[in-house]
Amino acid sequence: MTVQPETTLHFLGTGGGRFVMTSQRRRTAGIRLTEGNTQVHIDPGPGALVFGNWAGLSPDKLDGLIVTHCHPDHYTDAEVFIEAMTKGTRAKRGVLAAAKSVLRGAEGIGPSISGYHQALVRDLVELYEGTSFKVGELGFTATEAQHSDPYTVGLRITTGNGNIGYTSDTGYFKGVSESYNDLKLLILCTMWPRNNPLNIHLNTDEALRIIKEAQPKACILTHFGMRMLNAGPEKEATYLAEQTGVPVYAAVDGLEATISEEITLKGPRKSDHQIKLL
Ligand SMILES: [Zn+2]
Ligand SMILES: [Zn+2]
Repeated sequence: MTVQPETTLHFLGTGGGRFVMTSQRRRTAGIRLTEGNTQVHIDPGPGALVFGNWAGLSPDKLDGLIVTHCHPDHYTDAEVFIEAMTKGTRAKRGVLAAAKSVLRGAEGIGPSISGYHQALVRDLVELYEGTSFKVGELGFTATEAQHSDPYTVGLRITTGNGNIGYTSDTGYFKGVSESYNDLKLLILCTMWPRNNPLNIHLNTDEALRIIKEAQPKACILTHFGMRMLNAGPEKEATYLAEQTGVPVYAAVDGLEATISEEITLKGPRKSDHQIKLL
């Protein structure tokens, strides 16, 4: 009998947007997803290499790299990771999956990964809504997003421990929640707090609509902008949990979420206690 390995999400960075990125009030290193021997980095913004290494997650163990759109808080460390993933460019290995704007440039932005680096990987996948690919046993499908980079995608991830959704940067639009049905965990990039309308990102009010519509078993908020950090992401998470009955947690830099039958959370400090989210 084979034992199903746990799926772990390392929230190496939980900041988003220009001002948080340039001040590093929260890190912008993205998420490392691991299951068994498979490692995938999602949205490697500034700090991804450094804080991944600090967390003991060697970049040369990467099997896949996903860049959901062409904004620097999502792409800056991608080329460095490709050099590591390909064993210093010597081995043609790994999956690079990224939006058209990232790979080829579109609508006046990008490309943000050089042709040289794109040619190093074993599999290159250009992401549009509905594009599916695998990295090891992990399955990925790109989902629709509506953001200032028109080629932005979110993700739906099939793991051995249930389905995970990742909205990436998107505004709320009719139908957004349809991509995120039947999830064990939904990761919402919630840039701003309640009562702060914005078009191309989610605020807490829009996160509420998505949670009510999609009915995930649990949620983690991340990708916080300045207004959200000033309002307190924990307060917003508590509000969402109260409104929906779904457990909602606001990520902190260095948070590890481990998914098996349940979902447990562990903060970055030795003194942090394990929390059972689900
Ligand atoms: Zn962003
Ligand atoms: Zn963006």
